[in-house]
Amino acid sequence: MVNGHLAIDLVELMAATPWGSVASVDVDGVDEAEFVQRWAAASGNYVLMVHADRVELLRGIPPDPLEALAPERRPGHRLWVYTNFNCNLACDYCCVESSPRADPRAFGVAEFRDLVAEAAACGVRELFLTGGEPFMLVDLDERIRVGVAAMPTTVLTNAMLWRGERLRLLERLPRDGLTLQISVDSPDPGLHDLHRGSGSFERALAGIEVALALGFRVRIAATLGDDVGDGEARLRSWFDRLGLAEDCLVVRRVARQGAANSGLVMSRSSLLPEICVTADGLWWHPVAAIDPAMRVSASWRPLAERIGEVSREYRGYRLAGEIAASSFPCA
Ligand code: SF4
Repeated sequence: MVNGHLAIDLVELMAATPWGSVASVDVDGVDEAEFVQRWAAASGNYVLMVHADRVELLRGIPPDPLEALAPERRPGHRLWVYTNFNCNLACDYCCVESSPRADPRAFGVAEFRDLVAEAAACGVRELFLTGGEPFMLVDLDERIRVGVAAMPTTVLTNAMLWRGERLRLLERLPRDGLTLQISVDSPDPGLHDLHRGSGSFERALAGIEVALALGFRVRIAATLGDDVGDGEARLRSWFDRLGLAEDCLVVRRVARQGAANSGLVMSRSSLLPEICVTADGLWWHPVAAIDPAMRVSASWRPLAERIGEVSREYRGYRLAGEIAASSFPCA
């Protein structure tokens, strides 16, 4: 039921609201909230945020913040999937608290097929498989084949498990359309091992050699903590000696998520979303895939709707930020 006065209230409210400013209208239930959204669309105003008991409206239609993003940075261009949460390592900054003892919470092959098919149908262009350590799964190759058949696919790995059965799995993988993103935090074995475990540097290097010898495209990813010092410069000169293309190095800072007790603080309103699916639902970003505040929904289905929700929420944060910034006169 919609209160018969709501349309009149809206007309009066927006008439009294300066162009580009925000007004709030109280609503009683979903029907009224939907009515306000329809009214805003028809009258050339913009719904900034829908709350349980009120709707925030912007007078006029602002430029779309999504249009300001490069196409590859827009929500829905990339899709991240946590294949599993267990790992052979237990890094002290792991953003999802992975370890050999972690519950694997593996993403099943059948559901993965559905997800990739739906992702391709709704315009996703790049797939990233992460964990945990994806190569803990002895049937990982099935998922990788499904991914590569649909779009360019990157698998994040610590490159330490390629022996025996898992080496044979690696050898069988397609080379076209697949990138292996290998973690190396420092050219200094002591610093790398300090956070990732004794001996992990030498084994990661051996893994890089294996991957390159087998003809895989390799990208190096480093996570830098507060103790990095001049480590980033040394990392970059070590990387240059590998002879990989310039865009095959990713450097990011530790995020205060999961096992990390320091680092960059993340929130939905401050972090550009990269849609991420796990066995536990759909998340704002892979760096925060066990943070309850960053879970968008319990299910990724239907994916197109979820992408739309994330896009709208992102748009709302950006617009709210711009409006707050433009309405903070100091004189
Ligand atoms: S940071 Fe990566 S390698 Fe380290 S425990 Fe987490 S998932 Fe494993």
